[in-house]
Amino acid sequence: MSNTNEMTLEFESKSQNESFARTVVAAFAAQLDPTIEELADIKTAVSEAVTNSIIHGYVNCVGTIKMHCKICDNELTVEIQDCGAGIENIAKAMEPLYTTRPELERSGMGFSFMEAFMDELEVKSTFGVGTVVTMKKRVGKTERMKGYAQESNQKVV
Ligand code: ATP
Ligand code: MG
Repeated sequence: MSNTNEMTLEFESKSQNESFARTVVAAFAAQLDPTIEELADIKTAVSEAVTNSIIHGYVNCVGTIKMHCKICDNELTVEIQDCGAGIENIAKAMEPLYTTRPELERSGMGFSFMEAFMDELEVKSTFGVGTVVTMKKRVGKTERMKGYAQESNQKVV
């Protein structure tokens, strides 16, 4: 039988909720027995996505950010959704060093970090309607066992 679990959190797009959101995801992911490094990767990716919703999604206003987390076996999925400004050109926005807010000293690396720290990243957005960022990462014991087995040419069932 597969191990599944889900939770949803809604919070206001205020900067103090960025650390709140990443801590909640880390606490939820703890049941997968992640390493410190895996937890740090997840927290960084969540921070980047939530910060984007706060500063780019809801510009000069406060809106609702919805975060949905799901565990299926050893895979964690985190979906972060805002009903804010939306992204006009997603491919361009995902290029490293591309930012529409250079005046805020943003470096344009948020999506690159999400891509680097998670296994999968999907961005869906409609200009003027909002953005949904979905990230997946396989974490925990089973994943590490597979790594060890590959190193020593053994099979993990
Ligand atoms: P950094 O994350 O390095 O501080 P950044 O936020 O500009 O800089 P990215 O996170 O890679 O860089 O995002 C690239 C661009 O995509 C942003 O500058 C913004 O124009 C757009 N963007 C990202 N997320 C959203 C969002 N939730 N709503 C609207 N626009 C977004
Ligand atoms: Mg960003």
